[in-house]
Amino acid sequence: MEVRTRFAPSPTGYMHLGNLRSALYTYLFAKANGGKFILRIEDTDQARFVPGAVDVIYRTLKSIGMQWDEGPDIGGDYGPYVQSERKNMYLPYAEQLVKAGKAYYCFCTEEELAARREEAAKRGETFKYDKHCLHLSPEEVQRRIAAGEPYVIRQNVPEHGEASFDDVLYGHIAVDCADLDDMILIKADGMPTYNFANVIDDHTMGITHVMRGNEYLSSTPKYNLLYDAFGWKKPVYIHMTPIMRDATHKLSKRDGDAYFEDYLNKGYLKEAIVNYVALLGWNPGDEREFFTMDELIKAFSVDGMSKSPAIFDVNKLTWMNAEYVRRLTPEQFTAYALPYYEKAGVSAEHADLLARILQQRTEVFTQIPEMLDFIPRLPDYDVELFTNKKSKTNPEIAKHVLEIAIAALDALPAWEEQPIHDTLLGLAEKEGMKNGTMLWPVRIALAGKQVTPGGAIEIAILLGREESMRRLKVGLEKLS
Ligand code: GLU
Repeated sequence: MEVRTRFAPSPTGYMHLGNLRSALYTYLFAKANGGKFILRIEDTDQARFVPGAVDVIYRTLKSIGMQWDEGPDIGGDYGPYVQSERKNMYLPYAEQLVKAGKAYYCFCTEEELAARREEAAKRGETFKYDKHCLHLSPEEVQRRIAAGEPYVIRQNVPEHGEASFDDVLYGHIAVDCADLDDMILIKADGMPTYNFANVIDDHTMGITHVMRGNEYLSSTPKYNLLYDAFGWKKPVYIHMTPIMRDATHKLSKRDGDAYFEDYLNKGYLKEAIVNYVALLGWNPGDEREFFTMDELIKAFSVDGMSKSPAIFDVNKLTWMNAEYVRRLTPEQFTAYALPYYEKAGVSAEHADLLARILQQRTEVFTQIPEMLDFIPRLPDYDVELFTNKKSKTNPEIAKHVLEIAIAALDALPAWEEQPIHDTLLGLAEKEGMKNGTMLWPVRIALAGKQVTPGGAIEIAILLGREESMRRLKVGLEKLS
């Protein structure tokens, strides 16, 4: 049997990390088993439709290399793959259930239902549809339909007994039928409800394994009653644990840090995000932590999926991202860093040098403008910065250092790393100073701060001759 899985997002917003992980595990499961990964857009709930959300889904899946085998844009043998384009497919299935006594027409109006709901509330009960219309005679049903009365079609849930299913991760899940509502399958406008369309689509698309968030765990017994009513083979169910913000709260859309694209904007690499998300709820059974998509496909198995929720730890993600940044080639690093150089107001003229001083210390790319903040503008600094025990400097020594450095650098024919390096270190040797005693004051004068990526020489190159000489003189003036 060929494995067929699907990712079935509702286009109601941006791509949440939880959705991303559902998609990822579904994809990995299909690929690890030589099967098909199908993309289906579940847009029955037009009121919640967010324009642009479908594009975000396409863009996200594509950008991380999760290409679907069948889907809205590429078609396939089971199309269409957008529920709104399948809208005429569902009614005949509901009618089939009516004929079998597993569903029925319901003419109760909103007002009638509201009144009954209110009565139930008065009695302190939760309202459950009371099967009022189940008992209408076939003749009356036909007459009312013919008269053009609006109706819905409801599932006829048995009054007693149990509805259940077996989940690969959660085991046997059973609910008492008495607790289940006769849910609406077809709405008054002829459109299917989300619950009904989901079941019909999974069956008619030949889905063998349904993988999705555990918020559907409690609805699945109800779905299975429909499979039974049709006499269809049920898919294998694998419900996934949620991603948590902390021990008691789900990572929710309201947290403001739950979306894939937010992390891209925060300077994380998509490969690192995917790698990290893959490990939130799955482990390879060994110590490995770094995976490409191909490696994930090879390593993935349901046995490694966790039954307890994973807590999202942004520090761990940041650590992992830093590892990914370090593994980039300098050229790749530059490609990612360019927009941040621009934001920092730093020219990319010395991109190789920038990569050399930044790559090892960049955890996320958004840190770059702050690391380079001293380049476009010399910060206002205090002469106390010239004091450094380890480098054996203080303002007095610094004054001397800057004097001789200015004279020597001024005389340099070319403003390049090697001659600047040789000049400064030559001066240190001549003066019988530690290199640090020479370089510290120069770096402070050039950068106006103590912590900088790169040292005095690299900073001098980034600033250029003119600006470097100006800043050295500013430093000397401060010390005079
Ligand atoms: N459309 C549902 C959602 O976006 C997914 C339901 C399913 O996978 O069965 O939450």
